[in-house]
Amino acid sequence: MQGIVEFLTGKQQEMLQTLQQIVERESPTLDKEATDHLAEFISGLFEELTGGKADIIPNGEYGNHVRGEYGNGEDQILLLGHFDTVWQKGDIHQKVPFRVVDDIAYGPGVFDMKGGLVQGLYALHTLKELNETINKKVVFLFTSDEELGSPSSQRLIEEEAKKSSCVFVLEPALEGALKTARKGVGIFKLRIKGRAAHAGVEPEKGLSAILELGKQIVYLHELTDYSIGTTVNVGKVSGGTTVNVIAEEAEADIDLRVKTQAEFDRIIPIIKNLPSHINDVEVTVEGGVNRPPLERTEAVAALFNTAKKLAKEHLGFSLLEKETGGGSDGNFTAPFAPTLDGLGAVGSGAHALDEHLIISEMPRRSALLALLLKEVSK
Ligand SMILES: [Zn+2]
Repeated sequence: MQGIVEFLTGKQQEMLQTLQQIVERESPTLDKEATDHLAEFISGLFEELTGGKADIIPNGEYGNHVRGEYGNGEDQILLLGHFDTVWQKGDIHQKVPFRVVDDIAYGPGVFDMKGGLVQGLYALHTLKELNETINKKVVFLFTSDEELGSPSSQRLIEEEAKKSSCVFVLEPALEGALKTARKGVGIFKLRIKGRAAHAGVEPEKGLSAILELGKQIVYLHELTDYSIGTTVNVGKVSGGTTVNVIAEEAEADIDLRVKTQAEFDRIIPIIKNLPSHINDVEVTVEGGVNRPPLERTEAVAALFNTAKKLAKEHLGFSLLEKETGGGSDGNFTAPFAPTLDGLGAVGSGAHALDEHLIISEMPRRSALLALLLKEVSK
């Protein structure tokens, strides 16, 4: 019987064609008509390639999502991917045309993360074609709004994660490595209210919100501690009305990154309860966790070690793992089920003009995923 690796190696050209079809259906997050169109196409592809059932999940504001179901069993494994991109409609004709140069494919969203979708679809296709029975149900979620922070898909992703024994995220690999840790993200809005006064006539009556803001910025940035991976960044500020007025109001947007939930528990109260440095100035902070951390728990490490072993034994390469400060939908699933991220395309240039993937890695990574699905459903 033909093995998974050989079967997929023979599918490289077909996978590339499928990638092209998905990439040519451009899907900017905010273009509902375009993303709906691609959702329809992916739903058809899923049924055709896997023999499973795909449902369109209607979405009022953003593009519709797609939920594919393959196989059956008591337990569930979740495959996660998004089909929206940061590119605009028409970019494929000018800025980032789809093109193939030797072993590299360029185009909008090839790396982040349409290549990963193709790999996921073909992993299931391979299991089906080779009659590899897996005794778990695989749910494959294709979402439309990840590049915006998944406002309409977060709930759906969390609900499916709760029902799953593990989650495989098809976001791009990081220099070929899987992602076994992603930082959690906190977002806050700092508002400061002082008292206005004429800067020349009676400045002593004023309480400068901008001065207070300056002190707060210094304090906040000093909360950064690289030794534990905690970073705080005030990324946007505004305040005041005009040059000769002591500023009554000022505000700032704060980005917090941490490695663990325990660190969130420690630092969020500090940020939410900032004392004022100037008497009688009002300081308020709103906000909180935007994405929980994907922590490298023992269960995550075990999943990675399984993948590493499979890569070595069947594909002859050393799979590496990395951590990143950037978030993905894997952050949402991590609190509910062990999550292995970065199982998608190998390449680079996400969100950049040279976005590309390595074509010959598509069947390889797809095989890795198929082997992994088989292994964890034993
Ligand atoms: Zn992505």
